[in-house]
Amino acid sequence: AETSPVLPFDNSYARLPEAFFAPVEPTPVAAPRLVRFNRPLAEELGLDADALERHGAAYFSGNVPLPGSLPLAMAYAGHQFGQFVPQLGDGRAILLGEVIDREGSRRDIQLKGAGPTPFSRRGDGRAALGPVLREYIISEAMHALGVPTTRALAAVSTGQPVYRERALPGAVFTRVAASHVRVGTFQFFAARGDKANLRVLADHVIGRHYPELEGAEKPYLALLDAVAERQAGLIAKWLGVGFIHGVMNTDNMTISGETIDFGPCAFMDRYDPRTVYSSIDRGGRYAFGNQPMIGQWNIARLAEAMLPILDDDEDKAVEAANAAVARFMDRFQEHWKATIRAKLGLGDKEEEADQELIRDLLVTLYEGKADYTLAFRRLADAAEKPNATLGTLLENPDALSPWLAAWRARLSREETPPAVRAAAMRRVNPAFIPRNHKVEEALTAAADHGDFSLFMALNDVLAKPYEDQPRFAAYAEPPKPGEEITATFC
Ligand code: AMP
Ligand code: MG
Ligand code: MG
Repeated sequence: AETSPVLPFDNSYARLPEAFFAPVEPTPVAAPRLVRFNRPLAEELGLDADALERHGAAYFSGNVPLPGSLPLAMAYAGHQFGQFVPQLGDGRAILLGEVIDREGSRRDIQLKGAGPTPFSRRGDGRAALGPVLREYIISEAMHALGVPTTRALAAVSTGQPVYRERALPGAVFTRVAASHVRVGTFQFFAARGDKANLRVLADHVIGRHYPELEGAEKPYLALLDAVAERQAGLIAKWLGVGFIHGVMNTDNMTISGETIDFGPCAFMDRYDPRTVYSSIDRGGRYAFGNQPMIGQWNIARLAEAMLPILDDDEDKAVEAANAAVARFMDRFQEHWKATIRAKLGLGDKEEEADQELIRDLLVTLYEGKADYTLAFRRLADAAEKPNATLGTLLENPDALSPWLAAWRARLSREETPPAVRAAAMRRVNPAFIPRNHKVEEALTAAADHGDFSLFMALNDVLAKPYEDQPRFAAYAEPPKPGEEITATFC
């Protein structure tokens, strides 16, 4: 018999008071098969990649316990589409434990779809293959794009169906996260009036994600500000790559600042801030352009939950919380300004008319129904070719001419050589994003026909989003008429 890998688990969450979680074992599945294993990530985590890959089907289905794991479901609450639910919790996710990665950072390893938990309510605790592959593709693409995110360690098909509107092939996803603590975790204890555990939770996340705040004069207030800062930075990055999360409920907002929960998420093709793909977001609450405002709303919910520990004086606590929430938009604006300026190839020295130049481009792209990703990628080419335009990306290509002239005049006032600027622009304006029609095509081939080749290829292309990869030019193209995906499902 082969020796099993000894994973260096150190399960700090399992050592927290029992109100934080419910111990639960994964439920074995019929015929697990390893679909994809993320070797580089396993190595980054300091794990025995060979052994894990050999036993991947058994371990990443939950059929065989990973040595050293202490499986549990985390308790949390959350606002779902604005409605508070005092108890949600991991209904289909099981935290196996934590490992310390090669850089010394603590990372959660979690199975998603490994069976029911005490928090499952009426759910089956399972996941369908399609959504598991979607999370694999998109979370790894986000990482390659430079956006903080949870990661994909493995996907396993289970050999047994899950029943949604119809029977679908089942799967288990292995997720890696800096932690799975959410805004909703704070709300869980706040809703119970459990001030003692609010403090325990705050101390846990400070130690884990914000150690620099230990010993601060008001560490919990500093924590609120630090989370707001990370969320503001994260959402600016989402906007930079055209990402629409789709379900920004407070239980889907991490305290670490990583993107989490890739349900009905999607990347925007044509630029329109009102874009919504999620089939469950009928009111457009989580539309592309609403994300900063919703980020602030979520921080307000975090502030509310933390009120009892912000200050012994209630009035002072409210005042401090309000100020932190108010600062969120300034923080977001700072991050967004840096993001969009880099996308346009503008240097650090701001000019008064820059804001207008940025706004005019976005308005023109919107009016011309231009593809967001390609427009900026071609702008990088235009930055080093004096007469280059964005071609037929806009319905009326001439509409951009005055803007291009103004942009070139503006760039000419900077010293950066055009080739250097173009290269810098290509490092922030991706050629490849997970196009919805490509994702859908890969998921359908896998789930309906057992063909994983498109899924594999898509993952490989998206690992280098900022390189041209001419062989894979088709993956960079926006959907042709008839190929557009208008709705995503979770
Ligand atoms: P989400 O919309 O993915 O953030 O999920 C919201 C809540 O529903 C979480 O508490 C999930 O654990 C739970 N949930 C989602 N799908 C299932 C399922 N198939 N079985 C049990 N619970 C689920
Ligand atoms: Mg969730
Ligand atoms: Mg989800």
